[in-house]
Amino acid sequence: MKITEHLNNAKKPLFSFELLPPMKGQNIDQIFEAIEPLMEFEPPFIDVTYHREDFIYKKQANGLLEKVSTRKRPGTVSICAAIQFKYKVDAVPHLICGGFTKEDTENALIELKFLGIDNVLVLRGDARKEDGGFIPEEKGHAYASDLLQQVVNMNKGRYLHDEYTGANGTNFCIGIAGYPEKHFEAPNLKTDLRYLKMKVDMGAEYIVTQMFYDNEKYASFIKLCKDNGINVPIIPGLKPLTTKKQLTLLPKVFNIDIPEELADAVADCKTDKEVKEVGIDWCIQQSKGLIELGAPCLHYYTMGKSDTIKRIATAVF
Ligand code: FAD
Repeated sequence: MKITEHLNNAKKPLFSFELLPPMKGQNIDQIFEAIEPLMEFEPPFIDVTYHREDFIYKKQANGLLEKVSTRKRPGTVSICAAIQFKYKVDAVPHLICGGFTKEDTENALIELKFLGIDNVLVLRGDARKEDGGFIPEEKGHAYASDLLQQVVNMNKGRYLHDEYTGANGTNFCIGIAGYPEKHFEAPNLKTDLRYLKMKVDMGAEYIVTQMFYDNEKYASFIKLCKDNGINVPIIPGLKPLTTKKQLTLLPKVFNIDIPEELADAVADCKTDKEVKEVGIDWCIQQSKGLIELGAPCLHYYTMGKSDTIKRIATAVF
């Protein structure tokens, strides 16, 4: 079922979450162990992130280092299929531009269709760590909007080559990312919103936000979106803060602010256990506030740590 149908049919705010594929060499049981404690909250959908290749350096027999490209977390598509098969819950694969040619994307979309997957979250994807900025694949897409256009085309039965174009298209519900505190590369929020609106006008049907810790940011983002003619559902993304290190790491990696009150409370903690309690409590209050603000669904970035999310969901749903 499409995410938009889940949202339209909902009688109360929904609970959903996101998982990372396990590191190469690990087992899919990790995924099931992360999902099972959260099933009692009846998630209508579960997202699975996509991770492009990165470089590693391997020492050769002659002592020189060889630069090797490898994907540390493969398996997004098969994890989605396994989730749908085992739990009968819609799985949403993240689809990225990075590392994909248009032909790769077309084939990936056909596989997803054959697997009975109805939704995709369309993104540009993170840059490879070494590149220092996003470099599009040759014959690939530079922006999420370009990738979105390809999915929209396939939904209309338009393939890359005319020979295959016809009635047999895909039928994906397309989600995109939104940034209440702006994407780190955008010169300002207004410019960022212009591209967000462009993607909605092209056919994106819902938005999932970057994490944020101040509900005012969500409230003003919703208002700005409405004022700019963006009228699709906007699902807030939430990640409980669990370590002191995240106080500096999260703003750096995700270009977000940590409110003073939360930062001070975390800084005062003596142990990691205390930090976790502060983070969980903040996330519970934030979740309750977002429901009051009318959020249609709360989407949690689990990072595979379902015990924390379970405590939050127990207090909120
Ligand atoms: P875009 O929409 O392409 O925007 C990137 C930048 O370019 C923005 O500054 C925007 O303002 C600007 N821009 C947009 N369109 C245009 C255009 N047509 N012309 C010029 N400028 C433009 N990353 C992963 O690698 N894997 C994941 O699974 C993943 N999941 C995510 C889930 C969520 C909910 C979020 C919020 C992010 C996720 N990311 C993931 C990170 C995301 O890929 C990065 O933030 C990336 O840098 C931007 O992605 P985007 O889809 O917003 O890109």
